[in-house]
Amino acid sequence: MAKTIGIVTSGGDAPGMNAAIRAVTRIGHANGFQVIGFERGWDGLLNNSFKRLTPRSVGGIIQLGGTILHTLRCPTFEEKGSSEKAAETLSINDVDSLVVIGGDGSFRGALDLSRESDALMVGIPATIDNDVYGTDETIGFDTAVNTAVGAIDKIRDTAISHERIFIVEVMGRKRGFLALEVGICVGAEVILIPENPMNIADIVKFMEENAKKGKRAGIIVAAEGFSDTSKLAQEMQQQTESEVRLSILGYAQRGGSPTARSRLLASLFAEKAVELICQEQGNMAVGLQNGAIVGVELEKAAKSRKPINLRLLQVADMLAT
Ligand code: ADP
Repeated sequence: MAKTIGIVTSGGDAPGMNAAIRAVTRIGHANGFQVIGFERGWDGLLNNSFKRLTPRSVGGIIQLGGTILHTLRCPTFEEKGSSEKAAETLSINDVDSLVVIGGDGSFRGALDLSRESDALMVGIPATIDNDVYGTDETIGFDTAVNTAVGAIDKIRDTAISHERIFIVEVMGRKRGFLALEVGICVGAEVILIPENPMNIADIVKFMEENAKKGKRAGIIVAAEGFSDTSKLAQEMQQQTESEVRLSILGYAQRGGSPTARSRLLASLFAEKAVELICQEQGNMAVGLQNGAIVGVELEKAAKSRKPINLRLLQVADMLAT
């Protein structure tokens, strides 16, 4: 009987997850595997809910955002006994390997499960936050950067016309990868990320110096993990002559059709994941490092903190003069 690959998408959705499902399915089949997709994240493994995936059934999804398998944050998966239950689901369905498409939380879930199951675990990093160790980029990041840049370009028109300061909050959970790249691409005057604490007085001083130079409008890109942006906007309004407005981009950044880059990354990550499975290498994740698609230990990808390049803040400062 053909060996079986299971796929699960877990945690926050990211554009390009479908491209990864499609590629694992097709490359898996080409290598003689059957493929099944568990539904609604880890919940599908707890409730034995899945659908068979064939090269035909994954047609027409490469351009779709979200995930056809659905996903959720499933706190019950962290409870005692859940890994045993999920391992049993894998065993009764003869699933020999599980491809986990998600972020570091999902990878930690896969690690827990690997302690109870003989199935090979392989992680594919997919999150708009780009905060997974061992990969320069995650599936969905490029799409989210482009979505946020498009939105902020429009906001800048109003900022200039009304000579206002706009604080624009972008996603990223506890990290600043998204804000940093978006900030550079929109020419933000200030970029606020959790990895580089800054006080309001310094931000106000910087914006006032800009106003003296004749630059009365401004964009401040703030990562959601930096601080409470509505409080920040209120306090800035009190401390400066300029009008200050807040715009929270929110969930619009999570959806939408994946960019070419997100689709390419998804397809190449999937190919590497199936290669690792063919070589019987479990407890691994895939990643992009200096242009090459590589295997990374799952434990490291799940538990290590990804470094951020703070020099990019200096570059952004030089560009915002
Ligand atoms: P992401 O994968 O995007 O980082 P989350 O952090 O929300 O998203 O995690 C996704 C899923 O993985 C959730 O269902 C959560 O219950 C599960 N998970 C997270 N951390 C662990 C852990 N330490 N052990 C087991 N499951 C975990």
